[in-house]
Amino acid sequence: MGNMRKVIIIGAGFAGLSAAGRLSRYNLSTEVLVFDKKDSSAFLPLLPDAIGRRLNPGLLAYNIDELSRKLNFKFIKEEITSVDLQARQVFTGRSSYAYDALLISSGSQTDFFGNQHAQLHSYALNSVDDVKRITDAIKADKFENFIICGGGYTGVEAATNLWLLCRKNGFSGKIVIVERSAQILGPLPLWMKSYVRNNLKNMGIEVLVNSVTEDIRQDRVSVSGNLLFEKAMLVWVPGVKTADFIQKLAVEKNPQGRITVDEYLRFKEDCFCAGDASFFGRKGNYLRMAVQFSIAEGACAADNIIRGMEKLPFKKFKPCDLGYIIPMANNKSCGMVFGLNLKGFLPTLLHFIMCIYRSSGLRNKIGLAGSLIRSCLFTDS
Ligand SMILES: Cc1cc2nc3c(=O)[nH]c(=O)nc-3n(C[C@H](O)[C@H](O)[C@H](O)COP(=O)(O)OP(=O)(O)OC[C@H]3O[C@@H](n4cnc5c(N)ncnc54)[C@H](O)[C@@H]3O)c2cc1C
Repeated sequence: MGNMRKVIIIGAGFAGLSAAGRLSRYNLSTEVLVFDKKDSSAFLPLLPDAIGRRLNPGLLAYNIDELSRKLNFKFIKEEITSVDLQARQVFTGRSSYAYDALLISSGSQTDFFGNQHAQLHSYALNSVDDVKRITDAIKADKFENFIICGGGYTGVEAATNLWLLCRKNGFSGKIVIVERSAQILGPLPLWMKSYVRNNLKNMGIEVLVNSVTEDIRQDRVSVSGNLLFEKAMLVWVPGVKTADFIQKLAVEKNPQGRITVDEYLRFKEDCFCAGDASFFGRKGNYLRMAVQFSIAEGACAADNIIRGMEKLPFKKFKPCDLGYIIPMANNKSCGMVFGLNLKGFLPTLLHFIMCIYRSSGLRNKIGLAGSLIRSCLFTDS
């Protein structure tokens, strides 16, 4: 036991669990400690669908203790508050832990951009608890307007799922996407943006570009000085940032606070970063935040942790982009998969197949498959 090496993984999301799974395949004298501030791992890509398609939130969470037994790691449910890279230690509110190799895979969190009113009065969409908060508030039936701050893919997904929920509940709420820049879905191809805009228009969802949410109060928000929405739920999805402890780390980062990693996913000797927390790119092309890259990075970082310990040359991370989908709740989605442009029901179906395939545990897979099939059959656009 004396020379047992210790690997610490911060975050049991897609990247962290992929790394832990990979490490469990190596039969080495290595102890793997996985830290997460929550006791379950959340399946984020289905959060918007959980609102509109009324998925049981329990199907989107997987108990990390259960996984730790399968994948043979030690789970510690504590939040990492700081990391000392020189002393090779991580700190929680309670204790400190030493490591021989470190993997940061703490994902991202909602960025309120310092707006305390937004933090207090708006509804984020980054966790299973956020979904419950939104659906419980809607059940209380006090909203006539749904304002979505942020016209990225999460904003579009949130808007269409609120549309679906309103239809199912017989509400006639007004749904508005507020986007600061001149167009929604910024970097996506033009055909996709216009397809989404048309689809939103057909659903009666309004899009306000070059607009910002201003005075944010309890159930009330003003937009760009001249529009006031009363009885309004503000859904806050304009952007994300990395975990607080990363903000304090003195390493190279992008403006979102993602840690710049080299071709081996390393940012310092024996320290790696994977998933949303990492900023990996070559020649000006940086990877977007997505499940497929998080899983692949987690596995590659785990291989390199072992290679480092064995004094073997590192493996380069070679991302393979399968594509992406903008799922919309009237089942008219769009995307690019294996280089093919897709519109309509097929990308919706592919999104769900990806989600079922990637979700953890047989119970969740079966439950999700049943709920999603039911929902597709009974959603007419
Ligand atoms: C609403 C929404 C929809 C999305 N839809 C899609 C989609 O359709 N397709 C797609 O590919 N991607 C989608 N994404 C993005 C995708 O979910 C992320 O890219 C992916 O989850 C990143 O994986 P990760 O392992 O880096 O982080 P996460 O999966 O976020 O896991 C990070 C873990 O770290 C833990 N953690 C954070 N800070 C600490 C700390 N200080 N101490 C201890 N633990 C900590 C968290 O509790 C969490 O369990 C979506 C994201 C959201 C929010």
